[in-house]
Amino acid sequence: MGAKLVINGVHVVAMGMANAFLIESDDGLTLIDAGFPAKEAAVFGAIKAIGRSADQLRHLIFTHGHPDHIGSAAAIVRRTSARTYMHPLDISITESGGPFRPMRPAPGLLGQVLCRLFFNPDERMEPVTIDQPLSDGELLPIAGGIEVIHTPGHCAGHVALLWRPGRMLFAGDVCTNLMGLGDPVGFENLEQGRASQRKLAGLSFDAAGFGHGGPIPRDASTRFRNKWGKESPA
Ligand SMILES: [Zn+2]
Ligand SMILES: [Zn+2]
Repeated sequence: MGAKLVINGVHVVAMGMANAFLIESDDGLTLIDAGFPAKEAAVFGAIKAIGRSADQLRHLIFTHGHPDHIGSAAAIVRRTSARTYMHPLDISITESGGPFRPMRPAPGLLGQVLCRLFFNPDERMEPVTIDQPLSDGELLPIAGGIEVIHTPGHCAGHVALLWRPGRMLFAGDVCTNLMGLGDPVGFENLEQGRASQRKLAGLSFDAAGFGHGGPIPRDASTRFRNKWGKESPA
């Protein structure tokens, strides 16, 4: 499995049931999320497929500290010495490798099934050290500028990331794009999760990537607005 181009400079790395993203820029490679455990070969394969080497991976930014986003991180860091970034509220979970905070399934039958199937709070991951905590509104001087948007609800320390040069939003698990835009499998706090979906619907971007489901290469913010945008005041 190689890398699939989403927009110029961004490749989606299919890591089984979860996605990671590789951003290529003058300052090297940046990886967003690190999949389930034992999926590091997908990342190294993708790096090779775009003609780069593992030592060019400089940054590993996590949308949140769930098993399907941090699972292969330790193995990736060992081989690349990439600097790691995460919101403070998820750092202790990631650095201990679990247990994880419980989630309630998303509303609807599918949420009930998927949450039980894909999320076990007692699961243990290989611990990963986080080098740099992220804060809401911060603009990381990486790959020409990556904006950090705190989007709790699915997970307290969840952030979405907006890569400014390519106008691409990395939504993590704020939502999925499995059969169109929809909820993640579960929420720690549903109200906060809805507020985060509305927050992303209020932003302007072209492309979007998701932890689960296919990326949207263009007109993505229109779809977010149609799904979660506020009604315009009368
Ligand atoms: Zn998650
Ligand atoms: Zn996930």
